[in-house]
Amino acid sequence: MAGTFFVIGAGQMGAGIAETAATHGFVVYLTDAVAEGLSRGVKGIEARLERNVEKGRMSPEDARAALARLHPVASINDVPEADIVVEAVVENEEVKRQLFRELDQHFPPHTILASNTSSISITRLARVTTRPDKVIGMHFMNPVPVMVLVEVIRGELTDDQTVRRVLDMAREMGKTPVEAHDYPGFVANRILMPMINEAVFALGEGVADRDAIDTVMKLGMNHPMGPLTLADFIGLDTCLAILEVLYEGFGDPKYRPAPLLKKMVDAGLYGRKTGRGFYQY
Ligand code: NAD
Repeated sequence: MAGTFFVIGAGQMGAGIAETAATHGFVVYLTDAVAEGLSRGVKGIEARLERNVEKGRMSPEDARAALARLHPVASINDVPEADIVVEAVVENEEVKRQLFRELDQHFPPHTILASNTSSISITRLARVTTRPDKVIGMHFMNPVPVMVLVEVIRGELTDDQTVRRVLDMAREMGKTPVEAHDYPGFVANRILMPMINEAVFALGEGVADRDAIDTVMKLGMNHPMGPLTLADFIGLDTCLAILEVLYEGFGDPKYRPAPLLKKMVDAGLYGRKTGRGFYQY
C-alpha cells in the first residue's frame, strides 16, 4: 500500500514518525516552524539510520532508500501531495487548531488529517475543519522507531474508512495499533500521567528522594524506567500540558498537576530535551 506522509514538527516525536514511515516505504515530507529544529530532526534521523547499518539491523541500501524517500521542506507550500498529514507540534490546543485550519484549506478533501496529540480532543480539532470525518488521532509512543504501540483515536465524527486506513498504515509501519475513543488523555496518558504526577507529589512532599522513587517503581513494579526518568524523557512541558487537559477535561481535582512540576516547567527544566529536568543530561 504505502503512500505519502506529511509530518509537521521535527522534534522528538515528529522526527521519529518521519523516520519510521520512511523506513517502511512511505514518501515523507517533514517540516518544522523552526529551521534549526528541522535540521536537528533530520540529522537525528541520519545518525540513527547510520547506527542501524553499523549494528547490522539494516542494510546500507535500505538506509539510503529511506533517506531518499525523506524530504525536509521549509513550509506546507513545498508539499505537492499527501495521503495523510500527522502533526507533532507542541501540545497546545490553540496552536494545533490554527494548524488544522491551515491544513484543511491547503489539502484536498481526501487527505487524512491526523494528530499525534497525547491528550487534546480530536473532536475539537476536527471541528475547525470542513472534513471532521477525515480527522483522527494517531498517537505514537516515544521513541517512535522502537515503541510498537500506536493509539488510534476516533473523534466523534471520524468515519470507519479513515479509521481502517490509519490502522492499516500503522501496521505497515511495523506497529500494533489499538483503537480508543476520544476522552481526555485517551487510554495511555489517562493511566500514565496520574502515576507520573503522583511521583512528583511524592518527591515534592519529601516522601523519598528522586533515586528512591525511581528505584521503587523499577525494582518493585518491574517498570523499565522510573516515573521521574520517564517524565524527563517525555518532556516536563508535555507532561504538564497533558495533566492540564485531564484536569480541565474531567473537572476532577485528582488530576491537578503537582506544584513542583509546574515550578520546573516555569524554570525551563523540561528534561532530556533541555539538558536538565529531574536529572542532568
Ligand atoms: P518537541 O518539543 O520535541 O517538538 C515539537 C516541535 O514542533 C518543535 O521542533 C517545534 O519547533 C515544532 N513546532 C511548534 N509549533 C509548530 C508549528 N505551528 N508548526 C510547525 N512546527 C511547530 O515535542 P514532542 O515531544 O515531539 O511532542 C510533540 C507532540 O507529540 C505533542 O503533541 C506531544 O503531546 C505529542 N507526544 C509526545 C510524546 C513524548 O513522549 N514526548 C509521546 C507521544 C505524543
